[in-house]
Amino acid sequence: MLRVGEHFERTDTGMQRRVNEDAFHARAPLFAVADGMGGAQAGEVASGTAVEILSAGIPAGSEPVDRRLAELVQSANARIHELSVSDEDRAGMGTTLTAAWVGEKEVVLVHVGDSRCYRWREGHLERLTDDHSLVEEMVRQGRLTPEEAAIHPQRSIITRALGPEQTVVPDTLTVPARGDDLFLLCSDGLTSMVPEAEIAEVLASTGDLETAGRALVDRANAAGGKDNITVVLFRLEGVGTSAEEEAEMTRLNMDAVTAAPVPATAAAAPVAARAPRAPREAGKKRGWRPGIGTVLIVVLLAVVASGAYLASQAVYFVGSDEEGFVTVYQGIPYELPAGISLYREDYSSGLNIGQLPPAQRRTVGEHQMRSLADANDLVRQLETGRLGVP
Ligand code: MN
Repeated sequence: MLRVGEHFERTDTGMQRRVNEDAFHARAPLFAVADGMGGAQAGEVASGTAVEILSAGIPAGSEPVDRRLAELVQSANARIHELSVSDEDRAGMGTTLTAAWVGEKEVVLVHVGDSRCYRWREGHLERLTDDHSLVEEMVRQGRLTPEEAAIHPQRSIITRALGPEQTVVPDTLTVPARGDDLFLLCSDGLTSMVPEAEIAEVLASTGDLETAGRALVDRANAAGGKDNITVVLFRLEGVGTSAEEEAEMTRLNMDAVTAAPVPATAAAAPVAARAPRAPREAGKKRGWRPGIGTVLIVVLLAVVASGAYLASQAVYFVGSDEEGFVTVYQGIPYELPAGISLYREDYSSGLNIGQLPPAQRRTVGEHQMRSLADANDLVRQLETGRLGVP
């Protein structure tokens, strides 16, 4: 199973524009870049609306994810179109949208316009999206070479966008993915300034996403920074995929279940048995006994507490964070009186509990203890809308 191990995102106005009309969304499992266009503040409204609608997450349902993502793009398009016809300052506004949704074994892309998605795997950069642009269509028709297209004065004219029409036809693409795959979503402010070979060079030179992301923006600015630049990088990791990992999680979970009661009984025996044998204690007056008893109780409590602590850290549960996002927590769902929590966040999904039907919301609210694989699996099922309503 895949999940997002780390991500880094950055948007920059560039060297020549006064405002930044790009927008992005970066919350696992959904990542997106939108590049708005239109006079006054219309471009920002268009890209911001697209990203906002996307951030609500894909609607639950039994349809395949690509269909539901396309639906979401349709509703964003309808909303932007509505805003553009209701206000003449916003007439004709539009935005590109390139979004990637991370599934169990695949990444599903939905794409309109000339922002791009690349996959970096084992030292190779592969472009996964086709630009919906005038020059790229001319290249497809054999009327321009890719080299001519790269420097064509009209290379920023796009042939498909969210907003200008009542409906839009997005490209959808499902690509098999695996742990260590690195995905790059970017606006044309990067790709029109920095050749692909140079993007690959930056990704090859560092494994650190923040360093790479900043370097890409810096290169675009160094090349002139004619447009707003947005980069979203996310790296996948495989979790609980191999049989050994599954077995390990099961073992940890079993230990956790049995460990809690064990220290109280089994640990008591050796400590109590050892105490009378100690020569110094044998000759002590009766009055000392309560003192030794107190020490034993403290020792016992420490043993029980550390056993319980270790046990609590080997289990996981699913809940929701302060903002309502469904989250996998490591530990147990309790807080000690001093405000010490016995859990910490392990993985936060982009799915809000408010989007779930009541039965699924209750499942999340139960805080049932699980193995990591189980907890991830539940969140996955909620994200993909595949969890049957009991
Ligand atoms: Mn742009």
